[in-house]
Amino acid sequence: MYKLIAKVKFSSAHFLRSYKGKPEEIHGHNYVLEVHIKSESLNEEEITYDFLEVEEYIKSIVPDRKFLNKVYNFNPTCENLAKFFFNQIKKRYPNVEKVILWETENFAIEYSE
Ligand SMILES: [Zn+2]
Repeated sequence: MYKLIAKVKFSSAHFLRSYKGKPEEIHGHNYVLEVHIKSESLNEEEITYDFLEVEEYIKSIVPDRKFLNKVYNFNPTCENLAKFFFNQIKKRYPNVEKVILWETENFAIEYSE
């Protein structure tokens, strides 16, 4: 079994609708979306997936320099974002195993099915 691991950075603003009982102040994060895609075999080029194609696809779904509360109708917690990105990636790469959304250098949420 092979596994491709890709990371894409993006920066966005958000606030949580309820944190300790109140809406948070708007603030930003430098997110890193880490994507793990499994492959049992290699293609005729002896690779799993094209790194650059994977990167381009992930970049097309991450909201760089956006206000997440305006982009999505869900509460943009790290958990909800990780699940949303997982489902977007699954459309193109059905073998996606998990995503890890790093909200800071020290904290991330991993989502898998
Ligand atoms: Zn935050």
